[in-house]
Amino acid sequence: MQWSQYFLPTLREEPKDAEAVSHKLMVRAGLIRRLGSGAYSYLPLGVRVLHKVMAIIRQEMARAGAQECLLPALQPLELWKATGRDRTLGDVLIRFKDRTGKDMVLGPTHEEVITSLVAEVTSHRQLPLILYQIQTKFRDEPRPRSGVIRSKEFLMKDAYSFDLDVEGLNRSYQRMFEAYQRLFERCGLMVMACEAETGAMGGDVSHEFMAESPSGEDLVVRCASCGYAANREAAKCHLSPVTCHLSPEQPKPLEEVKTPGKHTVEQVSQFLHVPPSALIKTMLYESDAGPVAVLIRGDHEVNEAKLTRALPTVGLKLAGAATIERLSGAPMGFTGPVKLSGVRLIVDHAVMAVVNGVTGANKAETHLLNVNPGRDFTPSQVADVRMVTAEDRCVRCGDALAFVRAIEVGHVFKLGTKYSQALGAFVQDAGGAKQPMIMGCYGIGVNRIVAAIVEQRHDANGILWPSAIAPFAVLISVLEAANDQARQAAQDAARRLEDAGHDVLVDDREQSPGSKLKDADLIGIPVQVVIGKVWQAQGCLEVVERATKARQQVAPETLVVAVEKLLDKR
Ligand code: ATP
Ligand code: MG
Repeated sequence: MQWSQYFLPTLREEPKDAEAVSHKLMVRAGLIRRLGSGAYSYLPLGVRVLHKVMAIIRQEMARAGAQECLLPALQPLELWKATGRDRTLGDVLIRFKDRTGKDMVLGPTHEEVITSLVAEVTSHRQLPLILYQIQTKFRDEPRPRSGVIRSKEFLMKDAYSFDLDVEGLNRSYQRMFEAYQRLFERCGLMVMACEAETGAMGGDVSHEFMAESPSGEDLVVRCASCGYAANREAAKCHLSPVTCHLSPEQPKPLEEVKTPGKHTVEQVSQFLHVPPSALIKTMLYESDAGPVAVLIRGDHEVNEAKLTRALPTVGLKLAGAATIERLSGAPMGFTGPVKLSGVRLIVDHAVMAVVNGVTGANKAETHLLNVNPGRDFTPSQVADVRMVTAEDRCVRCGDALAFVRAIEVGHVFKLGTKYSQALGAFVQDAGGAKQPMIMGCYGIGVNRIVAAIVEQRHDANGILWPSAIAPFAVLISVLEAANDQARQAAQDAARRLEDAGHDVLVDDREQSPGSKLKDADLIGIPVQVVIGKVWQAQGCLEVVERATKARQQVAPETLVVAVEKLLDKR
């Protein structure tokens, strides 16, 4: 391929709307262009990378026994009503009416469609079945950001497993889990498999594959000693009493203090000269089964995913100012658990270890001192309902934890029978009884893989593609494009490499040598062959490894061997 004829516009300037390194580099290196909020065009160079990633995914899916299919993006809303996800997905679901007035959606994922399709399977003998597709998904994301890391239209590889029993599901899950580890490694992406929340998807076991990057939206908590890793949203907290400043103290009698205008943890702790960990926050929520108060230490944060799981109720939402006044008899900021009636009290484990704590007094401008759990209020339930902190210890081995930022590139779930029950996907078991199929689902963001690789592999001058997914293996730069002999030498070198099966781009543009070398580093093709001064003086080609900038001079006859050595390395 000749660059002079190739649609590969590079940019010196960073796009104004970009913060993430991958976003800047993918635009500057001519891989993508923004069309509108959360919508990107892929230019030929970008498409080549996507295709390489998809080829690896397809190979690993085939090895895991998954069969490729292709499902419509255009779906009747009715199908989503059958599982209730028309409500749980809310505004993320893009809805419209077709010309006959029928309610339609653009698929944000395909559990409903695949389950209704697989309902055709009637015998356990046809199981296990794993189907997958690579298809465009549509999500009206509230905050599209970081280029293709979070867009409204993106490519997903989504796979679904169908089994007769839980053992079968466990086997399918394990197979897909291992396929994911292999395919990320082949793409040159470093990932951590983390315990994760299941969210709107349902099911009870799930893992996210996280690529460490400062541009990641997720926080992963990781233990260096035992390898435990979990999304912060899902990370369990150690249940033994957490360090408490006052624990050696004896319980003292309750006392009321005036705290005029002090609502926040910070204000109250400064005013009363106590650390935030001595405060007990009382957060009021509304739920379908009535009001709930969550008690959490002043220096901790409620984890709503854990809270939702701890409660038998649904429809949890933070209470507004009016509800708070009605339930507690005091304005917001002064709620407390003592004599709070008609409200279910969910108390975090760490609160139970507080001695002589401070809470709101359910009276305007007033707090209570020396509040002791068990003595002054009785929990309805004690549970782990808080976010893990950097001071927490690993739940598995008790060692220190660290937080790292990461991009979620893949997510696998044990779904169970939520979708098969709702959509009538049953099979007859060996005894002739009808059973709902047990499902798993397995997603990968294809575009996100590309962006995450750029996040992990770049330097100050541009991208460093791993050879497995590089858009071309070799870039030949003819520094003096007007020189016929130099151009001919480039064609000869390209032919040798192409005959050996490598993709080659020849930079034959009439531009200054300096700007061509800059562009070469920017687009990040792993091996660069320079035809310039050395070639003119000695007839040798200069072979440069993009990642290290190590250079060597080779005769045209040994070019292929030299290039292959470098490609094997990366
Ligand atoms: P997130 O938490 O980042 O919103 P999700 O949990 O909703 O993602 P899944 O439904 O698990 O995503 O989708 C499977 C995969 O699709 C994700 O692991 C991610 O790699 C990719 N993906 C999800 N949303 C987007 C998006 N808006 N843009 C690009 N890729 C996405
Ligand atoms: Mg996810």
